[in-house]
Amino acid sequence: MTPPLLTSPTAFASLPQPTGAAGAAARPVLYDNHGRPLEYVRLAVTDRCNLRCFYCMPEQGIKYLPKQELLTYEEMERLVALLAGLGVRKVRLTGGEPFVRRDLVPFMDRLTQIPGIEELTLTTNGVLTAPHVADMARMGVKAVNLSLDTLDRARFASITRRDELPRVMDTFYALLAAGIRVKINAVVMDGQNTQDLLPLAELTRELPVDVRFIEEMPFNGGSHEATPATLPWNYHRIREHLELNLGTLTPVPTRPGDTASHYTVAGHQGRLGIIAAYSRTFCGTCNRLRLTAEGGLKTCLYDQGVLDLRALLRGGASDAEVVAALSAAFRNRAANGFEAESQRPLHQLSFESMSTIGG
Ligand code: SAM
Ligand code: SF4
Repeated sequence: MTPPLLTSPTAFASLPQPTGAAGAAARPVLYDNHGRPLEYVRLAVTDRCNLRCFYCMPEQGIKYLPKQELLTYEEMERLVALLAGLGVRKVRLTGGEPFVRRDLVPFMDRLTQIPGIEELTLTTNGVLTAPHVADMARMGVKAVNLSLDTLDRARFASITRRDELPRVMDTFYALLAAGIRVKINAVVMDGQNTQDLLPLAELTRELPVDVRFIEEMPFNGGSHEATPATLPWNYHRIREHLELNLGTLTPVPTRPGDTASHYTVAGHQGRLGIIAAYSRTFCGTCNRLRLTAEGGLKTCLYDQGVLDLRALLRGGASDAEVVAALSAAFRNRAANGFEAESQRPLHQLSFESMSTIGG
């Protein structure tokens, strides 16, 4: 079956626009070659980071891009506006650490003004974030993903190679106080923080937070050997461990595009989540694109980049040309992360750092 093509108020104004049931103009929708809609973009605003997480990059860090090779805020704004014209309604800022990039807050403000963008959010390590929480509340940020792999200060310092847990906790409490939903992301690493799963999960007992456990992926910039084909702590084992210790995990129905399977536990205010990032159980409803810090477009986390948007923008492409290139890339996606991985010319995933991809 050929999926329906997109409609867009900008470059495709000559095509018929869809209308809703009541005749009102519906939002544009671009479907990929597997019938999945485009709704969400993850924007890595920098590859730089103030932590050195073991699972993300080596101790000495990665070779950062020269500043002129990063997309400028203006370039990112233009891309987000064009993507909004294709149906994107949610933007997540990530990195590297987003708050390491100067003037992030004014950039966020501008993104919230782009017609069609309904949700702006970010993923942060929390070290520099607390002073910006009030601004985020003012601009209507509803939820923030906070990366936190342990509540133990020594283990935090050993995993991230920086002694910054107190500042991360300041951010945690500032977000709660501001009424911004906190979604904790914890990468589960065999032999490193499996003793931290229960203390982290216990946060959901008294607090209305989501604590999500992520399978470790191989994108560690050469920090250590590639993830074994059989991951010691995969989503099955994480669930079993939680259930054995906390009682029944009741699944919350997933929505299309969700990467986390969420669960409630009787008596807990918050929810638990498991993200099968390595087992890739969620590709069937994947609704997102990724822009790397240097302007590479990824239509799957596991592909190696399918379009050099920086070259296109800096080569003087018109809006219509950029939209056409974005649409063509999205209409030619791999069915899932395994197919995308198999199509990589450079197969070794651990050469890449999640800091350039944005998670
Ligand atoms: N610096 C920010 C942070 O840590 O939240 C944003 C960027 S970070 C690359 C985005 C997410 O990717 C974080 O939640 C992090 O835990 C996750 N991540 C990084 N490397 C990973 C890996 N090898 N496997 C699974 N998740 C990873
Ligand atoms: Fe930095 Fe986030 Fe990577 Fe940790 S996971 S090194 S905080 S980019």
